[in-house]
Amino acid sequence: MSDTPTPSQPIDIKSFTLGPWQTNCYIVRLADSPECWIVDAGFEPEPMIACVKAEGLRPTRVILTHAHVDHIGGLSQIRAAFPECRVAIHADEKAFLGSPDLNLSGWLELPVTCSDADDLLADNERLTLAGTAEWVVFHTPGHSPGGITLYHEPSGIALVGDTLFAGSIGRYDFPTSNGQQLFDSIGKRLLTLPDETQVFPGHGPPTTIGQERRTNPFLT
Ligand SMILES: [Zn+2]
Ligand SMILES: [Zn+2]
Repeated sequence: MSDTPTPSQPIDIKSFTLGPWQTNCYIVRLADSPECWIVDAGFEPEPMIACVKAEGLRPTRVILTHAHVDHIGGLSQIRAAFPECRVAIHADEKAFLGSPDLNLSGWLELPVTCSDADDLLADNERLTLAGTAEWVVFHTPGHSPGGITLYHEPSGIALVGDTLFAGSIGRYDFPTSNGQQLFDSIGKRLLTLPDETQVFPGHGPPTTIGQERRTNPFLT
């Protein structure tokens, strides 16, 4: 018997930039397991769906960082492609999926409505990927009331939605936004993570907590 602890399996993250708002969609899995999660569901998800099928992956959850239209526009297609997948969103945005006014699609030519989520998430809830990898849900409101961050502490990975970007932060001028909450979420839940934490935002390239702490002009 060896005393050496089993190293946690590496998390594999594939990103796709989808639709007219260039929304990031992530396939999250353990390197040696076909089970995966799909994080966010932008418009025109065909390339992501094709990749899941080509690699023989088995999506068990679609987790929405929030329900603005650019993150749910492809949800119906993803549900049709993977009917066994459960859709999860923070409880505070339960109503957004069915409301074009709340999901900001009201002004589009084709307003977006989706059927209800299967699971409603709460702050500090733990979700297990492929039976072993435990992620924590952080409620990080401000850009929207039910915005979440998914954090995997053992590998130092945070999927932050539209709360924090490389060199920027989420908009807080929408009717359901709240600037004070946004700055609180970033300051108290994200900037308290280790500097080396890899940050995967809802738009744009990945970054790290340390990089944003040092250089993000909105956080100085
Ligand atoms: Zn948004
Ligand atoms: Zn967005």
